Amino acid sequence: MENTKECHNECPNCGATGQDLDWHGSDTCDDYMVYAGLCKKCNCEFDEIHSIVYDHTEYDVPVEKVEEIPDNPYSLYMSGVSERDLKRAKEVEEKITEIIDEMVDKIVAGVSTHSLMVNYSIYLNLLDYAGVGVGDTETDNCIVEIFKDKLMERGVTKNKAEKLSHKLYDKIHC
Ligand SMILES: [Zn+2]
Repeated sequence: MENTKECHNECPNCGATGQDLDWHGSDTCDDYMVYAGLCKKCNCEFDEIHSIVYDHTEYDVPVEKVEEIPDNPYSLYMSGVSERDLKRAKEVEEKITEIIDEMVDKIVAGVSTHSLMVNYSIYLNLLDYAGVGVGDTETDNCIVEIFKDKLMERGVTKNKAEKLSHKLYDKIHC
C-alpha cells in the first residue's frame, strides 16, 4: 500500500536523515521531479516528489539576424534597399519571367526568331527604368541563362539554345 507523508529529506518510515539515506537518481514526471531514496536504517524505499516551479530564464543576446534576401533569379538589386525598391524589383522579376516565357513559347511554336528577338529585347531593355539592375552584366547574364535553360527544357537543342541566347545577350546588353 502506498502512503503519503510530508517529510523532506527524512525517511518517511523511521525519520532517519543525512548519511542514513541513500539517494539514487532523479527523474522528471510531468511537472514533477522525482528523487528515489532508500533508508539504510529501516530498508524503506521511497520517492520524494518535488514540484517544478518556474524561476527565471537565462539566455544569450543573439547576433543580429541577417536579413533574408528573397529568391532572386535575375540578380536584381533586392537586398539592403527600401520596401518600395524591393516591391519594384519583384515586379521587374515577374515581368522578365513573362517576357522570357513568351519568347520561348513563340520560338518553340516556330516563329521567326530575328524580329522576335528585336521586339522582346526592347521590352527587356525598357525594364531598366526601374533601376534595379536590368542592363547590368550580371543581370543580363542571368536573363540569357534562364532563357537558354527554358529553351532546352522545351526541347530546343543545346546548340540552338546557345546561339539564341548569345543573340539575345547582344541585343539586351548594349
Ligand atoms: Zn527509515
